[in-house]
Amino acid sequence: MNQNEKDELTNTLNSTEPMPVLFIGHGSPMNAIEDNEFTKAWREVAKILPKPRAILCISAHWETRGTQVTAMEKPRTIHDFGGFPRALNEVQYSAPGSPWLAQEVKDTMKKIKVGLDQHWGFDHGCWIILMQMFPAADIPVIQLSLDYTRQAPEHYALAKELAPLRQKGILILGSGNIVHNLSRLVVTGNDSGDLNKPFELDWAVEANELFKRLINENRHPELAHYQSLGNAARLAVPTPEHFLPMLYVLALKQENETVIYFNDQAVGASLTMTSLIIDAGLKNAQYAKQMSSAVS
Ligand code: ZN
Repeated sequence: MNQNEKDELTNTLNSTEPMPVLFIGHGSPMNAIEDNEFTKAWREVAKILPKPRAILCISAHWETRGTQVTAMEKPRTIHDFGGFPRALNEVQYSAPGSPWLAQEVKDTMKKIKVGLDQHWGFDHGCWIILMQMFPAADIPVIQLSLDYTRQAPEHYALAKELAPLRQKGILILGSGNIVHNLSRLVVTGNDSGDLNKPFELDWAVEANELFKRLINENRHPELAHYQSLGNAARLAVPTPEHFLPMLYVLALKQENETVIYFNDQAVGASLTMTSLIIDAGLKNAQYAKQMSSAVS
């Protein structure tokens, strides 16, 4: 995409349009520093999106009792994984926090009491993506936790309360993996193992396709009851935390909005990197075409 096309795209998105919503399958923590087909797509998407005023990230890797939002000025970078190279452990993502946005989230979510957290920071579900998408780290970022005492339909209902933030230039980013079963992971490839090598089990593909079909048909309540969707879905979502961020994103989809997928690929047998953008602007055929070509 050249500069003129980018400018034209930016102009099609006037300020009254809600900010797109994004779900990204984050996969291996190494995606923070690797240049591969997945991280290339993350960077391309970042170039096409209108520049957010701030980012609200809902990561699979922050589960709490009750709902918390990070409210510190300077969030720390949390290296919440083991067994990866030192280079990854040395990464710092230095974006500022946003006490303003934290308060805004607290005020917007009226159904529950949201706690203002001063201890968390950026876990790898958040920063590995943002390192690639916004390497300048100049956009304020906060995280919203997943309350592990709540069922998926409750999360879906809570997420709807975040909708007004889209009108305020806030990019809502869900980070997880819609198919994620580490107990069935098969790492192939070079000596150290390549977590990003395309490799799939039948049930992983079956579940991935089922979830996409339900998304396309706006059958969100069924997705929120994923335990009732059969064996493949049960294998794909053995625990809820990597699936729930996608429900938060879906809950924000308005009727007139379109879903575009990217990184729709299984890796390590039991993970899918499937990611999606929800945006009213995608009605515009030209924009949709540009987005499609950028992420394919
Ligand atoms: Zn993860």
